[in-house]
Amino acid sequence: MERYYSLNAYLRETFGEKLYKIALDGGFSCPNRDGSVGSGGCIFCSGAGSGDFAQRAEEDISSAIEAGKQRVAAKNPGGRYIAYFQSFTNTYGPIEKMRRLFYQAISHPDVAVLSIATRPDCLGDEVMALLRELRQIKPVWVELGLQTIHEVSARYIRRGYELPVYDEAVRKLKEAGIYVITHMIIGLPGETPEMIYDTARYIGASGSDGIKLQLLHVLENTDLAKDYRAGKFQALSLEEYLRLLSGCIERLPENICIHRLTGDGAKRELIAPLWSGDKKRVLNSMKKYFDENDVIQGKACR
Ligand code: SF4
Repeated sequence: MERYYSLNAYLRETFGEKLYKIALDGGFSCPNRDGSVGSGGCIFCSGAGSGDFAQRAEEDISSAIEAGKQRVAAKNPGGRYIAYFQSFTNTYGPIEKMRRLFYQAISHPDVAVLSIATRPDCLGDEVMALLRELRQIKPVWVELGLQTIHEVSARYIRRGYELPVYDEAVRKLKEAGIYVITHMIIGLPGETPEMIYDTARYIGASGSDGIKLQLLHVLENTDLAKDYRAGKFQALSLEEYLRLLSGCIERLPENICIHRLTGDGAKRELIAPLWSGDKKRVLNSMKKYFDENDVIQGKACR
């Protein structure tokens, strides 16, 4: 029994097969790091810009895609891929560079989807026009790092834009025929369960097609790590995470695809919670918790 609308289910339904992701680093930067919006970056962001496993792809997309394919070749013989520009803000920078990289990636015969991670405040007219062009070739996904709907938390994490900017980004992207995925973080300091559930409900009603639910990781070399070490907040236990995650799933409408239930932080940088480094145990615990508590997506929306 499917307890939630998973990415695998969506892919089989839409493409008739499972697609594997190839994470690419196009060498973009981020306005929240270079001083345009902010200079320290989001409080939880390591220097890798959330792209710890990404293949460097600035000069030669084909080689990067081939290298990425090698990583999953055994699992995906003859299969197709999602070219995922993961690191930093991939719609920030010279439009010619975006055009070159995105066209190369989407034109690769083994690529079925182009997926682009970015910020909602980096979707100007030129970018939207490019996305519309690309959309004519193959499906285009855009991933938006919202994390929370609460201004108090958004200020704490130094997100650098307000909620209406996200709303407008989703509206523009949907109008352009782009598939939208929204990232949210569970476990931000000071957020109560109700605040977390409000964010899940909001994303569920926003028009976003998919959601990535992510546990707050405390990573080395971040300002979040300083606050954690100063005892300003505690990381979630596995039991707390399972309860909050389940609460979010039950508050999401059945038609929003859940692309992720936790996250893959770089283990070598992980400070807390350490249990999240044992992926197998986390996945087994999730399955057990969902079964024991009869967690079903949309249950609380009925
Ligand atoms: S917007 Fe993304 S890349 Fe930029 S600082 Fe925040 S998490 Fe890091």
